[in-house]
Amino acid sequence: MPHVLLVEDEPAIADTLVYALQTECFAVTHRLTAADALTDARATAFDLAILDIGLPDMSGLDLCRKLREISPVPVLFLTARDGETDRILGLEIGGDDYVTKPFSPREIVARVRAILRRTNHAAPAPSATPPRLLHHDPAAMRFSCHGAVLDLTAHEYKLLLVLMEKPGRVFTRDQLLDHAWQDPGAVTDRTVDAHIKSIRAKLRAARAGAENLIETRRGLGYSLATES
Ligand code: CA
Repeated sequence: MPHVLLVEDEPAIADTLVYALQTECFAVTHRLTAADALTDARATAFDLAILDIGLPDMSGLDLCRKLREISPVPVLFLTARDGETDRILGLEIGGDDYVTKPFSPREIVARVRAILRRTNHAAPAPSATPPRLLHHDPAAMRFSCHGAVLDLTAHEYKLLLVLMEKPGRVFTRDQLLDHAWQDPGAVTDRTVDAHIKSIRAKLRAARAGAENLIETRRGLGYSLATES
């Protein structure tokens, strides 16, 4: 999975981007300062760097120059100003693209994919969209369905999270056990079935028919329905 270095000192923006990129199967290292990012870049080969122009200890442009002394990593700039100078400078010093704040996380993910395609890195295929009825609040570690919070156990939450991260993908019972249980050896396939049954009951309680959001693939496993 492609590894992205994100250097952004505004936690709210960074958290949104980290979540969006991770959801789309990128590994993300987030740093608040240029100094920390340079330390990481010396130790790790990143596939792409997303640099805020306005960092506390160095401008993103200077950071780009220094990163380029270390490796030819592609760079996407985040800029708060809509001025041409930033844009031109950014591209002149070798930035691959720039996005002006405010932006949507979706836009950033699309730009990242495009840059990786251009620079011949393997970008993960776009994932299918999870059903709109189902909402995940990562901070609260909670799911809601049609606005009703689902009262899930820890294992049920983890199971649903695994399914939610790859809508449409079929997970075998073994894969679900591996992802959602710390000690998968202590439980059996039937444990997964029992938990799925319980999650479905809670979905149905939130909204009749919502239990069908989890699809059974006979002889294979389970998947989350995709938005069509
Ligand atoms: Ca900033």
